[in-house]
Amino acid sequence: MNQPTTDWLTWIELDEQAYAHNLSFFRERIAPGTELAVVVKANAYGHGLRPIVTLAEKYGADSYCVHSLEEALTLRSWGIKKDILVMGPVPSSGLEEAVVHNLRLALFNRETLELLDQISRRLQKPIRVHLKLETGTYRLGITQEELALFLERLHQTTLVQLEAAYTHFANIEDTTDHSYAFTQMARFQQMVKLIQKAGYPQLKLHTACSAAVLLFPETHFHLVRLGVSQYGLWPSRETYLSYKIKHNRQGMTVLRPVLTWKTKVGQIKSVPPKETIGYGRTYQTSRLTQLAVLPVGYADGYDRRLSNQSYVLIRGRRAPVRGRICMNLTMVDITDIQGVRVGEEVVLLGHQGQESISAESLAALIGTINYEIVTRINPSLPRIIINSN
Ligand SMILES: *Cc1c(COP(=O)(O)O)cnc(C)c1O
Repeated sequence: MNQPTTDWLTWIELDEQAYAHNLSFFRERIAPGTELAVVVKANAYGHGLRPIVTLAEKYGADSYCVHSLEEALTLRSWGIKKDILVMGPVPSSGLEEAVVHNLRLALFNRETLELLDQISRRLQKPIRVHLKLETGTYRLGITQEELALFLERLHQTTLVQLEAAYTHFANIEDTTDHSYAFTQMARFQQMVKLIQKAGYPQLKLHTACSAAVLLFPETHFHLVRLGVSQYGLWPSRETYLSYKIKHNRQGMTVLRPVLTWKTKVGQIKSVPPKETIGYGRTYQTSRLTQLAVLPVGYADGYDRRLSNQSYVLIRGRRAPVRGRICMNLTMVDITDIQGVRVGEEVVLLGHQGQESISAESLAALIGTINYEIVTRINPSLPRIIINSN
């Protein structure tokens, strides 16, 4: 068993072998030559940017996708030489740094294009842009009507290089009916034709997030943007079901969750029957109750809406949360678990013994998605890599 000694109150463990497994699984699913770009925005979906980038480098990710310039510059400051696509808006004051650090920039507005033209000429340094196409998600992206003007302006620039065109699906993970995704694909292809006609024979194309990578090889094109599933999480239940039907595979074992969230028992106490526990007195004991107080709470990202809803694992058994989750403390019922001691390890998310708590199950309890459960884990918690090869 991997039981690193830790002095932390609460921390995250990242399973290296699980990450390696997931990455090689996806490498096998994409065609040779297709770029495997891992999406590490939002602190690598809460897993920790630094350790995940370490693993992504070690296990052969081809490039990175981030949301912000700041994230891209952080990767560069760590010596990451691979391509980095900034998918979100970059303020005009940051464009020069983007050029200097040879980033790939998502392009979806004219002002940015004008500024990039000026800056790249002034610095005599090229900048690669990925034109984001609006195909029906109505988030970032330019419409077919705007395309002609963009192409005209792009032709007049000297050092702005149109490297790729891309789009993002609206509901590929929300349904087992993928007709809208294919409507978006058709719109994408139509706009791509217009770009190619304007003379970009080397143009790369990309559309695929995790669900698309898993379900539809025809969405892969030259690059896939692999987010949540590199971490061993399914984009949704619908994606899992669609995958299973398509591939006739058993179980969820094709992906292996990377993250385990742990804490340690801070205090143990007996609570008499008919006493109430915690703020607001929302839980009343019905029997003599053994309570463990855990040094983790909503400030760490353990959502307060899990109060009286979720459970944690101690000695491989379920200990239900009693009362409200506090800012830095949570109380759990260990009456039926024998021999628990102060300092004993507790799992909030992940496996322990035969039991496990998934990000999906926590998400279901509070009406959100697994993405939000992991992404909201406080970035300041320590992250360590376990199960190294
Ligand atoms: C976050 C994001 C992705 C990754 O999506 P997953 O479902 O996590 O794989 C891909 N493309 C864009 C544009 C994104 O914003």
